Amino acid sequence: MTRPKYHLITYGCQMNKSDSERISTVLDRMGLEETPAEAEADLILINSCSVRQTAEDRIFGKMRDFAALKEKRPGLVVGVTGCLPGRDRDGKIRARMPLVDLYFPIRDLPQLPRWLAEHNPGLYNSDDLAEDYLKVHPRYASEKQAYVTIQTGCNKFCTYCVVPFSRGLEKNRSVADILAEIRDRADHGTVEVTLLGQTVNSYRAPDRAGFSAANPYKDDFAALLWEVNQVPGIERIHYTAPHPIHMTDEVIDALTLPKHVNYLHLPVQAGDNEVLRRMNRRYTRELYIDLIKKIRAKKPDICIGTDIIVGFSGESAEQFERTVDLYKQCDFDISYTAMYSVRSGTAAHKAFKDDVPQVEKKRRWLDLQNLMEETVLRKNQAFVGREVEVLVDSWSDGVAGGTSREMKVVRCNSKEDLRGRIVKVRVTKAMEWLLSGGRV
Ligand code: SF4
Repeated sequence: MTRPKYHLITYGCQMNKSDSERISTVLDRMGLEETPAEAEADLILINSCSVRQTAEDRIFGKMRDFAALKEKRPGLVVGVTGCLPGRDRDGKIRARMPLVDLYFPIRDLPQLPRWLAEHNPGLYNSDDLAEDYLKVHPRYASEKQAYVTIQTGCNKFCTYCVVPFSRGLEKNRSVADILAEIRDRADHGTVEVTLLGQTVNSYRAPDRAGFSAANPYKDDFAALLWEVNQVPGIERIHYTAPHPIHMTDEVIDALTLPKHVNYLHLPVQAGDNEVLRRMNRRYTRELYIDLIKKIRAKKPDICIGTDIIVGFSGESAEQFERTVDLYKQCDFDISYTAMYSVRSGTAAHKAFKDDVPQVEKKRRWLDLQNLMEETVLRKNQAFVGREVEVLVDSWSDGVAGGTSREMKVVRCNSKEDLRGRIVKVRVTKAMEWLLSGGRV
């Protein structure tokens, strides 16, 4: 009998990518085979993102393609999981996708085998049920790098954000589970781990006894970083995304642990106190700027990136200028800027008017984009002549590519296939998005 085929489409952040690796594990265990071709699939599953309207619109757009496919293959099952079903409390979003057969938040992933078997008992079996969603080991996309979820959900309720609704409240994995997963990856050749959580540094261990007696930290997230540092075989550790209010002195100190990468991504979102208050970010610009100073005092050459939202409800031109000023003071190495997009169900949707015109949002976005490009180029040029340590993940036509400990993309000529190795490269040329050089 031929194996049923599935096609998995993933939108959104690293957390969704990691969840898709878990979905693959569940479907592989059921004996399904993955296919890159939608037209060949018996099951098409979208792991959705709803952080912005454009992300949701892409999913509605896909439904038109699937309607045509369903006409040709009436047995085709279409499923949507991820953030969209989680936040769709009143079912209005689902009502716009009548052809969808399965619609579930990711925490219900363990039910998927049973639902598929109920749908078509001849094709699918549900014998091998998965356990708790976070206990499903992902089918890692890379041997050398692994995303390890340490926490799901969020308690912060930033007024613009759907995550606390789509993923629920914060839930932390046990130290024992996290370390078992990382040790297992290290035994399989993984050298880099990225710890994932919505506010990853608010991590609180449900099993503090899982920390070693020699662990010097009291803060649970710093203590977890220390434990991961002890795992033989792991060479590089980073995490995303921390919240500024949980950057304690110990978490800052843990940036100096030997295996920690030389990069920190610390979302700021806005540089004006009134906008931050309306966003419910729980810190001031002064606190954020002080944090950056403290971090640079502890680790002077660290690269720092951030996320910014421009055109949030009521943001005046002067308030935006304070974000530009904060950007200059913090001298970020990279930023991901988004134009504010109102999300139904959030506090900002209920309480504020989305009153910054789109053309003005675009202007502010461009201002920050230009500032970022100037800053990145200037900062990258300072790398010329320096040695960087690169984890190589690509090699073709005699060119190896990878990322440095500063999360910069680096290329060098190499006759040898260096994929999976960490090599030293002396930088000879710097552009905005690329450093290049020769092997040391
Ligand atoms: S911290 Fe704020 S922006 Fe981040 S996931 Fe939680 S609610 Fe959303």
